[in-house]
Amino acid sequence: MATHISPDGDALGSAIALSIALESLGKKTTVYDKDPVPEFYRFLPGHERLTNSIPDNSKTSNLILLDCNDPERAGLEKMIFPSSAVIDHHETEKEFGDIRWIEPHAPATGLMLFHLIKKLGVKISKEIAINLYSAISIDTGTFRYSNTTPDVLRIAAELIEAGADPSFISENIYESWSESRFRLMLKVLETLEINNNVAITTVTLDMFKETGALVADTETFTGFPRKLKSIKVSALFREMEKDYYKVSLRSKGKEINVAKVAEKFNGGGHRNAAGYRIRSDIRTAKETLLKAIEHVYA
Ligand code: 5GP
Ligand code: MN
Repeated sequence: MATHISPDGDALGSAIALSIALESLGKKTTVYDKDPVPEFYRFLPGHERLTNSIPDNSKTSNLILLDCNDPERAGLEKMIFPSSAVIDHHETEKEFGDIRWIEPHAPATGLMLFHLIKKLGVKISKEIAINLYSAISIDTGTFRYSNTTPDVLRIAAELIEAGADPSFISENIYESWSESRFRLMLKVLETLEINNNVAITTVTLDMFKETGALVADTETFTGFPRKLKSIKVSALFREMEKDYYKVSLRSKGKEINVAKVAEKFNGGGHRNAAGYRIRSDIRTAKETLLKAIEHVYA
């Protein structure tokens, strides 16, 4: 199985949980993840299962894509698998997969896997519970976003009964930052620009160098300017190399669907959280984003 590049808690927790469940049924799994597991997700039991090498037997193995629906998003450019299944909840869809289970309204891939693992007759062990609870936590903003349905809370309760400890998980997700990550955030907050209720913050290569923080450390940064009451969209530009940016978008409420904005730049995601990559100088990149948001408004 494989999950998307720059994996987040839903990607990692879902992949690890399914791997544990399938192995308990006697199946052999390899969990491919192109990028290393960020330091702050290494509390997930079973994270050592993730590898960035494609197994030799891939020509005879089946692929399950999790939390994405396009092999390119997983960094698997050349398809070498004889058959494939997709389990995902993104609004942006590519035509891929012999079996496609995509639920754009599902709050998290981890929630879909909870149902699947139970259907497979596998007991939700403590390890599976921690991974699924973390997956659901990340994608619901720990039960704050509009996707926090009664089903989410009922399943979270079951996962707690199965051994997931909410305070242990929250502490690991939200209160285990490295100092370099915190120092990077201080610099990034200083870059705030506000334009038409759109907040833009920027991370430069120099800031990464000065603080020693990594790209993965910026995972939650886009959410911060959303704290401002007047902000409708928050965008974070991360400089990956000269004139090449990874952009994250977050919106509040129903007004702006940022997945639609990201699609204009060949990216994708969800209504309130999406992203894309762009080759451009920073000024043009910001201007084109502001224009794209205006069009989605209209
Ligand atoms: P993030 O901003 O945290 O990287 O991603 C927010 C959401 O948008 C996630 O669901 C993520 O999978 C999706 N996303 C981010 N970047 C891209 C991209 O370049 N392409 C697509 N299709 N989805 C993306
Ligand atoms: Mn997800």
